[in-house]
Amino acid sequence: MTQHTWDAVIIGSGAAGLSAAQALGRSLRRTLVIDAGQPRNRFAAHMHNVLGHDGTPPLELIGKGKIEAESYGVQFRDGRVESVRDLGATLALALDDGSEIIARSVVLATGVSDDLPPIPGLAQHWGSSVLHCPYCHGWEVRNTRIAVVPTSPLGMHQALLLRQWTDQLTVFTDALGELDEAATQRLLARGIELVSEPISEVVNNEQSVTAIRTVNGRELPIDAIFTAATLRPHDEMLASLQLKRSESPFGSFIAVDPTGRTSHPRIWAVGNVVAPATAVPQAMAAGAMAGGGLNFVLVEEDFDLAQQAQRSQQTPTSGV
Ligand SMILES: Cc1cc2nc3c(=O)[nH]c(=O)nc-3n(C[C@H](O)[C@H](O)[C@H](O)COP(=O)(O)OP(=O)(O)OC[C@H]3O[C@@H](n4cnc5c(N)ncnc54)[C@H](O)[C@@H]3O)c2cc1C
Repeated sequence: MTQHTWDAVIIGSGAAGLSAAQALGRSLRRTLVIDAGQPRNRFAAHMHNVLGHDGTPPLELIGKGKIEAESYGVQFRDGRVESVRDLGATLALALDDGSEIIARSVVLATGVSDDLPPIPGLAQHWGSSVLHCPYCHGWEVRNTRIAVVPTSPLGMHQALLLRQWTDQLTVFTDALGELDEAATQRLLARGIELVSEPISEVVNNEQSVTAIRTVNGRELPIDAIFTAATLRPHDEMLASLQLKRSESPFGSFIAVDPTGRTSHPRIWAVGNVVAPATAVPQAMAAGAMAGGGLNFVLVEEDFDLAQQAQRSQQTPTSGV
């Protein structure tokens, strides 16, 4: 290991990566954060359900987190990590500018992309009046005309949930599959309007969604839409390492233990990249946990290395 070897490189500086950075910086670890600058919630003007930060713009929290981590010696670099190679005692990270960085450990905190269903007009107000998380934004659109646009049968959960925030709820059932009588009656019992016609378009003005148009030309006025994107974890740079994965109804994600450690002893992964249902508070908790767990693994390794060095000094030299 050389003096240019980082104790830890964190890929991604969202809530998860910055929490890990803070824990590692405060543990006096040589820590570098590399970030491509596209946190998942950048589309939303304000964050909610984050204790102590209710209403804070997402980028403001990230800016504050960087300043805090920097105050403990953590360094930051803009860029995109394209691949990670296993060198045994270290890992080599290749960046998009062609440079290579060597680290004893890596924390993957790269989040996910939300691939929205390809309905014309749906993406225009993503993060303001087209939403996915009622705990993040349900209060802001409470008691208004809300539409649920499921993308798979899993969308039934969202349909039931949203009734808590409004009694003017319309569920577009096309993607839910054939609704049986019991499910239909359950939704109707709480006054939910069911529309089985496929959607042709979401109608918007400058500020917000205004209506949903069906393939039959029907136009239903609405104030907000809840839908589910397909989540694409940003973990392609680790593909060659063939880490263990776990399959879930939300897709395939790298498997981790409770401290965020993957099946590779030098790689941790935290936040949305491994936990699709994670919001900002859970991402922060996972980052802090991984920072502490990783530091302890390096503490053990520091002792192992010191003992190895001591033993090699004590070995008698031959031929004297
Ligand atoms: C529209 C919207 C609104 C939301 N609102 C809320 C809310 O109000 N409250 C709440 O609690 N949660 C909210 N969330 C959820 C929240 O965005 C996530 O829980 C949170 O961003 C997860 O943090 P993270 O650190 O795992 O990932 P992210 O915040 O997405 O950060 C990942 C970072 O890694 C970087 N990155 C990716 N690949 C690479 C690479 N190869 N090399 C270098 N860097 C890379 C990205 O550019 C990004 O900066 C919202 C989500 C969405 C989509």
